[in-house]
Amino acid sequence: MKKKPNFFNIFLRNILSPEQSMLDEARIRLLYYGLFLAAVALAALTINVFLQHQVVFTSIACILLICVVLLFKYLTWIPNWRFISHTLLILALVVNLLDVFIIIQNVDIISIQVIILSVLFSFYMLGQRWGLFYSLANLIPVLAFMVFEYGNSYFISFKPEKVDQSTIIISILANFIMIIYIHSHFYNAFINNIRKLNETSQEQGRLNAAYQVSIEKAEKSSHAKSEFLSTMSHEIRTPLNAVIGMTNLMLMSNPRADQLDNLDILKFSANNLLSIVNDVLDFNKIESGKVEFEKIKFNLVELMGNICGGQIIKAEEKGLKFYLDVDNRLKSKVLFGDPTRITQIIFNLVSNAIKFTQQGNIWVRVTSLGDRHNTLTVNFTVKDTGIGIAEDNMEAIFEPFTQESITTTRQYGGTGLGLAIVKRLLELQNIQMHVTSKVGAGSEFSFNMEFPVSTEKTVEAAVAQPAQDAAGYVNAGLQILIAEDNPVNVMLMKKLFSKWGIVPTFADNGEHAIELVQYGNFNIVLMDLQMPVMNGFDAAIEIRKMPDPKKANIPIIALTASALFDIKEKVYDSGMNDYVSKPFKPDELKEKIFSLVEAV
Ligand code: ADP
Repeated sequence: MKKKPNFFNIFLRNILSPEQSMLDEARIRLLYYGLFLAAVALAALTINVFLQHQVVFTSIACILLICVVLLFKYLTWIPNWRFISHTLLILALVVNLLDVFIIIQNVDIISIQVIILSVLFSFYMLGQRWGLFYSLANLIPVLAFMVFEYGNSYFISFKPEKVDQSTIIISILANFIMIIYIHSHFYNAFINNIRKLNETSQEQGRLNAAYQVSIEKAEKSSHAKSEFLSTMSHEIRTPLNAVIGMTNLMLMSNPRADQLDNLDILKFSANNLLSIVNDVLDFNKIESGKVEFEKIKFNLVELMGNICGGQIIKAEEKGLKFYLDVDNRLKSKVLFGDPTRITQIIFNLVSNAIKFTQQGNIWVRVTSLGDRHNTLTVNFTVKDTGIGIAEDNMEAIFEPFTQESITTTRQYGGTGLGLAIVKRLLELQNIQMHVTSKVGAGSEFSFNMEFPVSTEKTVEAAVAQPAQDAAGYVNAGLQILIAEDNPVNVMLMKKLFSKWGIVPTFADNGEHAIELVQYGNFNIVLMDLQMPVMNGFDAAIEIRKMPDPKKANIPIIALTASALFDIKEKVYDSGMNDYVSKPFKPDELKEKIFSLVEAV
């Protein structure tokens, strides 16, 4: 900020500052030079009328000169242009009226000039409202004077009769100079303003273009990151598929007791790794805004039972008491929502509660808060008596890859993604999570979720359950075609199916699979999605176009190690019936095959 000018300042540069707008600066400049010019003109006028012994005019000119000099001084000390403008306009009004009504008692060219000056000056300096006010204040009395004084013959005399030629010339000249000066000054300010505006808009255009380029760059790099993660996941999940698959096979082939322990550890670690990969992928998916929430029918009591079933065992193994308390009123309700996402949220919260509690209890409470216009509000609360969270870390724990401390990482493991996923999944549904916690005493996570209620009373099972034991159905008579190019997976599938007494046929790419479907007699196709020559999607589309309806309608299950975002829709869009993600669980695959193939 510029410091204030001192009382003795007389320079313009000291009263201008960068904080003033362009227009205000123009106003101050105008006053500075205008007052200076007016002082010179008034001095000349004063001397002139004094030499003519015009006492009244000399006194008026003298008073005006003093006022102008004082205002000039005031301006160079405090540049309050508004106050100075009002003062000048009032002075001009008083002089004008005195002149017309008392001193000269006539309307001459100088009165008209003063009116024009006041009109211009008031509009430029004080804006529309004051401009109009001062214009009318000057004009109306003068017009009224003309009407009353002159009767029917209005005329404007050229010069006042009481002063001599030189005074008139000085006055007219000075007034014209002022009129020209005010106009040219404001014209300059106006043009400068437009030039500046132009420059600003050009600059803004340049900035916008640069901004656009940055956004595109950021989008590209974010896209590349997502692609990288999803490719990596594919690369990691493929060998992981082999590890989990082989472990399952070995577990199924009566291992020795000591081998059983090792295999259990191997299976646990591989599954752990898989869940970490899945977490990273899920977070990536949420961050890139590619999550859509389903609205399917489900029953909350059953869902909570399924989610907590495995967790209760885990908690009890740790010596913790697990209380699952689901509101009885929810038993008969069929709700619309996304059970997969609810599972993910509750599972994460309950897993954390068990992980961070050494002794005591875990409570999972689901309470109905009431039904309004067929929309049910439900409160979910997960509470524990664990290590608790310090007040300062309450926000940080929801950040991705953030744990409370290094000790947490060392002692409990984890990636710090669970709560970040939970928070974002809730935020995407406009839901806020509430956390209360006390170090050493425990934590409570809770949120409210709304569900539209169906008029039905119970839910039909989403997938038809097998009527008999799956092993009974999947027998040697089943003809399975597996399109798979990865030799490790081929070996794995061979071993797995041989356990069920099935010898599958293999195709190493999509084109080969189409040929085999055309000439063979298969009951079902298991289709890997990423294969050379022709991928699984295209192969499925071709199969669905076959003329023989039996072949065109053959059940196809997609096998995917990829965690590409829109995989599910793409699978269904290309006409496949279902999909299993690799590494798949043998039972899950068996169940899916079973639900699609009629008894053979
Ligand atoms: P992770 O469980 O992989 O560490 P989360 O995002 O699920 O990651 O949790 C982040 C951090 O929040 C944890 O590392 C832990 O410090 C803290 N936290 C989460 N839940 C609890 C809980 N129930 N009790 C105590 N601390 C918790």
